[in-house]
Amino acid sequence: MQICATIPEARAASRDAHSSGKRLGLVPTMGALHEGHLSLVRAAKAQCDSVAVSIFVNPTQFGPTEDLSKYPRQFDRDCQLLEKEGVDVLFAPSVDEMYPDGQVSWVLVEGLSEKLDGRSRPGHFRGVTTIVAKLFHILEPDAAFFGQKDAAQLAVIRRMVRDLNFPVEIVACPIVREPDGLAMSSRNAYLNREERAQALVLQHSLQQMQQEFQNGERIAAKLISSAKKVFAREPQVALDYLEIVDPDTLDPVERISQQTLVAVAAYVGSTRLLDNLVLNP
Ligand code: AMP
Repeated sequence: MQICATIPEARAASRDAHSSGKRLGLVPTMGALHEGHLSLVRAAKAQCDSVAVSIFVNPTQFGPTEDLSKYPRQFDRDCQLLEKEGVDVLFAPSVDEMYPDGQVSWVLVEGLSEKLDGRSRPGHFRGVTTIVAKLFHILEPDAAFFGQKDAAQLAVIRRMVRDLNFPVEIVACPIVREPDGLAMSSRNAYLNREERAQALVLQHSLQQMQQEFQNGERIAAKLISSAKKVFAREPQVALDYLEIVDPDTLDPVERISQQTLVAVAAYVGSTRLLDNLVLNP
C-alpha cells in the first residue's frame, strides 16, 4: 500500500493506479476504522481494479463546540487494517496540505445542507461537500463508496455530483452494526458502559417504526409518535431529530407511498449518534 501525505504524491499514485483503463474506487474516511469502513473498502475492492482510501479528520465539518480535538485517531492501526484489505493507495494529508492559508472557496449544496444533521450542525455539510469535492479532484476516482449510515450525507453528495457533473459513480453501502444492533461508528468509542446500553434506543425506536410499518401503518406522524414513546423510556438520551423524509430531497413525508428514509440522531451523554432505516411499501 502506498501511503501519500501530499497532494502531488496522491495525484501521481492515483494516476498510476488508474493507468491502462483500470477502474479506481475511493473510500473517504476520517479514520479510527471499524468494520463499517472496511465494508466500504471490500465493496470497492469487489467493484474496482484499484482502491484508494483517504483518512482525514476534516476540521471544516466540525462546529466550534464539537469534538474535533478529541476525535479518535489511530493511524498505525488503520494502516495495518487497510494493508490487510489489500488497499492500493492511502491518502492521509495534514490539515495544512488540504487547507493552505487563504482558502475562501467552498462547495455548498443549498437547501439540502440545512436539513437533518445540517440543521443541528450549521456548516457541517458545507465542510463535507468541500472536502469530498477536493478529494474527487485530487484522486479522480471512477467510483466513490459511502455508508448508508450517514444517509443525509449521501443525499447531499449525490446532489453535488449531479449538479456539478463530477464524473464519479456514488455507491451506497449498507449499515454495519454491532451484534446487538448498534450502528458502528468511530464515536461509539466515547460511550461508557451505561451510555453504550442506552445507545440501543436509537435502533429500538427504528425497529418499533418498522414493525408498525409492516403492520400497515403509513402515516408518518403516527410512526414518529410511537418511536418517540420508545425514546421516552431512555430519558438520559436526548433526541436531536427523528424524521421521515424523501431520501433524495430530505423533505418530510406525510404518508409513506414510496421508498422513504427514517432518520434519527440523538445525544447519548455528549456523544451524538445517528441511525436510519429505509421503508419500502
Ligand atoms: P467517517 O469516518 O465516520 O467519516 O465515515 C466514513 C465512511 O464510512 C462514510 O461514508 C460513512 O457513512 C461510512 N460508515 C461509517 N460507519 C458505518 C457503518 N456502521 N456502516 C457502513 N458505513 C459506515
